[in-house]
Amino acid sequence: MKQTGDLNLVKKINKSIVLHHIRSDSPISRARIAEITGLTKATVSSLVNELIESSLAHEIGAGESSGGRKPMMLLFNGTAGYAIGVDLGVHDILAVLTDLTGKVVEEYRVQHDNASVEQVVGLLKASIRELIRRAPDSVYGIIGIGIGVPGICDENGNLLFAPNLGWENVPLQQQVEEEFDIPVVIDNEANAGAVGEKQFGAGKDTANLVYVSIGIGIGAGIIIKGELYRGATGFSGEIGHISIQHDGPKCRCGSLGCWELYASEHALLEKARIELGESADLESLLRMADAGEPAVSRLFERLSYYLGVGVVNIINGYNPDFIILGGRLARAEKWLMQPLQTVLEKRSLPHPREQLNVEFSSLGDRSTVLGASSFAIAKFFASTRVSVEHN
Ligand SMILES: [Zn+2]
Repeated sequence: MKQTGDLNLVKKINKSIVLHHIRSDSPISRARIAEITGLTKATVSSLVNELIESSLAHEIGAGESSGGRKPMMLLFNGTAGYAIGVDLGVHDILAVLTDLTGKVVEEYRVQHDNASVEQVVGLLKASIRELIRRAPDSVYGIIGIGIGVPGICDENGNLLFAPNLGWENVPLQQQVEEEFDIPVVIDNEANAGAVGEKQFGAGKDTANLVYVSIGIGIGAGIIIKGELYRGATGFSGEIGHISIQHDGPKCRCGSLGCWELYASEHALLEKARIELGESADLESLLRMADAGEPAVSRLFERLSYYLGVGVVNIINGYNPDFIILGGRLARAEKWLMQPLQTVLEKRSLPHPREQLNVEFSSLGDRSTVLGASSFAIAKFFASTRVSVEHN
C-alpha cells in the first residue's frame, strides 16, 4: 500500500531534479540530463515529456552531436508564468513584474509619506494590482508575490518590527494573500537584496557574500556557502545596530553608538541639516556635490569614513569573498568609494582583505525586487517538489 505513495514521491523528486537542470543549464539534451543525474534515458524522456506538456519546457533545434543522430535541445519556458517582486521602502515602493527566469518585464514606482500603515499597504496593493493588469497572458499567470521589507519578520510573513517605518506586528503576508489569492513571501529587504545580487548581480559566482543595504537604516543579507544565512531564529543581518562608538548617542534599538547612526542616509541628512542649516534630500545633496560645494563633499567623505569603519568589522568578522554595497546610498558611489577604500586599506586585517572584492551594486535599486521575485519563484517550484523529510 505504501509502495505506490513512495513511487509517486520518487517520481516527483526526479521530475523536480530534471526541471532544475533544464532551468539552470539549458539548452540541454535529454542524454546530458541522464548523464548528470544518473537517471535512465527512458526515465528522463518520460519526465521531460510531462514537463513539455505542462509548458515548463520546450524543444529547440538539434544540438551538437558526439556521433549519430543530433539531439533535440531542451529550453526552460521562462514565460510560462510571471512573478511580482516588491521593495517596500521607508519613502517609496518599487515593484517589478518578472518572468520565471527573473527577467524584468514591467516596473512600477510610487512615493509615500508613511501617513499610516493602511495608506502604505493600500499603495502596495495598488502597485501589485497595476502589475497584474500589465502582465502578458501565460499558462500559469501570476505565480507568486515576494515583498522585501525594511525590518524583521517571522516565518508566517508577519512584519514584527520595522523601526524606520515605525511599524510593529503587521500581518502583511495575510493581508496581501487575502487581497489577491496568490502565494506571498515576505522577507527582509537586505536578505532579498543579497539573493538578488547572488542570482543576477556582481555576486553570481560568489559563495560567501555580504550585501549591505544602506538606506534610511543599514541592514545586511549574508550568504554563506551559497545559502542565505538567517541565524538561529531568522533575525540575522541587523548589522546597522553593531555599535561603533561604545558611549555614542542612543539608538532606537536601545543600544548606544550604532553604526547606522553614523553611516546611513538618515545620518547624512541629519548632518546636512545641522551643517548647511537647511534640510536637503539625498538627490539635492548629490547635485550640490556635483556642483562642487566643498561642505557637501565633506559630508559624503565623513559618511564614507564611518561606512568604512563598519565594513572593516564585516571583513574581519566574516572573511567574505565579496561585499556589495547597495540601497539608496549606492547612488553616491562616486563620492564614497575612494575614502572608503582608504579606510579599508588602513584598518582591515590584511589576510581576509587579500581575496576580497568590495563594490557598489550594479543592479541600481533593483537588488531587493529581483531577490523578492526570486523568493516567489522558488516557492512556486518548491510547491511542486516534495522533500524527503516531509514524507
Ligand atoms: Zn541600534
